[in-house]
Amino acid sequence: MPAPYAVHPQQSRGRQYAEPAPAYRSEFQRDRDRIIHSKAFRRLEYKTQVFVNHEGDLYRTRLTHSLEVAQIARSVARSMALNEDLVEAIALAHDLGHTPFGHAGQDALNKCMADYGGFEHNLQSLRVVDWLEDAYADFSGLNLCFETREGVLKHCALKHAQALGEVGQRFLDKTQPSLEAQLTNIADEIAYNNHDIDDGLRSGLISLEQLQEVAVFQQVWQAVNARYPTLTGQRLIHEILRRLIDLMVTDLTETSLAALRGAHIADIDGVHQHGTPLMQYSPALRAQKNELKRFLRHNLYFHPSVYRSTWRAQQIIEALFQAFMQDTHLLPAEHRQFALRYSETAGESGQARAIADYIAGMTDRYAMKQYSELFDFSRLV
Ligand code: MG
Repeated sequence: MPAPYAVHPQQSRGRQYAEPAPAYRSEFQRDRDRIIHSKAFRRLEYKTQVFVNHEGDLYRTRLTHSLEVAQIARSVARSMALNEDLVEAIALAHDLGHTPFGHAGQDALNKCMADYGGFEHNLQSLRVVDWLEDAYADFSGLNLCFETREGVLKHCALKHAQALGEVGQRFLDKTQPSLEAQLTNIADEIAYNNHDIDDGLRSGLISLEQLQEVAVFQQVWQAVNARYPTLTGQRLIHEILRRLIDLMVTDLTETSLAALRGAHIADIDGVHQHGTPLMQYSPALRAQKNELKRFLRHNLYFHPSVYRSTWRAQQIIEALFQAFMQDTHLLPAEHRQFALRYSETAGESGQARAIADYIAGMTDRYAMKQYSELFDFSRLV
C-alpha cells in the first residue's frame, strides 16, 4: 500500500488529452511504457554522459545513466512506500531533452539561443514528452500524466514558468513537487556522483589516491580495506562504490522518513505546501556529498582532457546552429518545415527554436556526421 503522502494514481491530475484508463496497468506504468517506446529514449544510448560515446564501451551513456537513476529511485520509493511506477517513469524520462555531448552541448546550445529564449535541458525534456514525439494519432508528444511531467520539469527559469501553465505553476507559487519528483532528482545526483567516480577512475584521469582527499570516500575505503586488506583494482573500486551508494541511499531514506514524521505530513497536500523539500540528506552527509561534487568538478569535469572534448563539442554545436540559422535549406526537409512554420508565429526566435529542437535531438555521432558533411571541404574534390 502506498503511504498517505505518496502520489496515488486515482488522484492523478490526469493527462492533457483525456484517455480511457488502462485495463491492466497503472497510469504511471503506461507513462513508463510510452517513454521506453519513444525515439528520444532510444537516442539516449548514443548521447554522452561525461565521456564522449566512442571513447570506450564501458563508460556510462545517458541511457545507462537513466537506468541507474531508475534503479536507485525505485529502491528508495519501495522502502518509503512511495509510488514506484511514477519514479521509474520520471527517471527514464528525465534526460530525454539532453543535447549531444553532455553538459558541453547544453551550454553551447544555451549560448546559441541566448537571444531567442535560451535552452534548458529540463524544459527540453518536457518539450519532448509534451510535443516533439510524433507517434500517436490523437496527440503530439506522449500525453503523459501531470505528475510525470511535473517530475520531468525539475528546474525551470521563472520567465518560462508562466508560459507552461499548470506544470510551471509551482515555480511561481514556490510550492514543492511530489516526493516522487524530489526523490528522482536526488537519485539522479547519487547515480552520477558515483558513476562519474567509476568512469573517472577507468579513464585514468583521476586516481584512488587522489580520492582520499574526499572524506566520505576515504571513510568507505577504510571500511572495505579492513575487511579485504589485499583487494585491488576493479573489485576494490566496485566494493567502495556499492557501499557509497548504499550509504547515500540509507541516509536519504532515514532522514526523509524522519522529516515526514517530524512535519506530521499526512497527505500529498502537506508535501506540496511544506516550505522545503522533505526528501533530504542529513546535514553531515549533505556536506560530504558537496565535497565529493567539488572534487569531481575540479579534477574530472575540468580535467584538460575532458575540457578539450568539451571545447570541440561546443564548436560542433555552434557551427551547426549558425549554419542552419544562416540557411534553412541545409536542414532536412521535415525540420525546415518546422523552422518555417515556427517563424510564421515567432519570427527568428521560432526558426531558432526549431533548429534547437533538431540539434538537441541529435546523438553524438549524428552531430559529428552532420558537422563533417557541412564543414569537411575535402568532400567537394
Ligand atoms: Mg541525469
